[in-house]
Amino acid sequence: MDLDNIECVFSSDGMEDEEIHPHNHHLHQFSSKPHNNIVIPSGIAPATSVHELLECPVCTNSMYPPIHQCHNGHTLCSTCKTRVHNRCPTCRQELGDIRCLALEKVAESLELPCKYYSLGCPEIFPYYSKLKHEAVCNFRPYNCPYAGSECSVTGDIPFLVSHLRDDHKVDMHTGCTFNHRYVKSNPREVENATWMLTVFHCYGQYFCLHFEAFQLGVAPVYMAFLRFMGNETDARNYSYSLEVGANGRKLTWEGTPRSIRDSHRKVRDSHDGLIIQRNMALFFSGGDRKELKLRVTGRIWKEQQNPDAGVCIPNVCS
Ligand SMILES: [Zn+2]
Ligand SMILES: [Zn+2]
Ligand SMILES: [Zn+2]
Ligand SMILES: [Zn+2]
Repeated sequence: MDLDNIECVFSSDGMEDEEIHPHNHHLHQFSSKPHNNIVIPSGIAPATSVHELLECPVCTNSMYPPIHQCHNGHTLCSTCKTRVHNRCPTCRQELGDIRCLALEKVAESLELPCKYYSLGCPEIFPYYSKLKHEAVCNFRPYNCPYAGSECSVTGDIPFLVSHLRDDHKVDMHTGCTFNHRYVKSNPREVENATWMLTVFHCYGQYFCLHFEAFQLGVAPVYMAFLRFMGNETDARNYSYSLEVGANGRKLTWEGTPRSIRDSHRKVRDSHDGLIIQRNMALFFSGGDRKELKLRVTGRIWKEQQNPDAGVCIPNVCS
């Protein structure tokens, strides 16, 4: 990756530019926060032991039909069955092709809380529709929004904010306006891995500002966009603008931040942000076109449907 010669300089309005030196974007050892401590509400406590019965003893996922068993009665899920080469993982006997219909029937009669109960989801579902809901549950953990590496960490927003700060060494800023300078010594090198992430904290929310260079068709471009650290419905309460320019020309972008539920890649590929052609970017950089030096200014605001929206009150925003 070509991160070492990218420099990101940030300054708040009215303040001196503050040089921020590139960090080593090495990932430190960390572990994801466990989310599998399912708390069953006391009202449906008898379901707990049945629920454990329906956990595949091999992979610990919930089992859905067809549920299999060996001649000795050891159960396992259909995914694991395809992996064990016809040997029961528990007793090593030949597995055969026996369905455990009794357990499938028991599952049908169950109502269980969403597995994100401990994260705040109050919903209870028949066993077989639980899985469907969990895939779209609003309380499901978010993926790490860091884009430059394969990071498999998931969690709620406060957890991910400290993860970005501590493990990815991402710059954190408070305020709803920003003035960001992107400096790159060799603008001829444009490859997919070139990007920057900054996190902004305002209106009690967190926003990810992405900046990157990539190849759009045959043309190298730079792109900046904002993602909201929260779900899509809440993201629609905010708008943002980005502006870049010099020498009497400027490009502006106004949009709604995308939720981090949408992957960084998805947002980028839908071009939902400020896109700067390289020629323009070099023009905006001034000088001898040998260095990229873009000043991106921006603002985040709350949408009008909210009573206290529209105006940026300084002591609220910073
Ligand atoms: Zn399994
Ligand atoms: Zn067995
Ligand atoms: Zn849920
Ligand atoms: Zn991460």
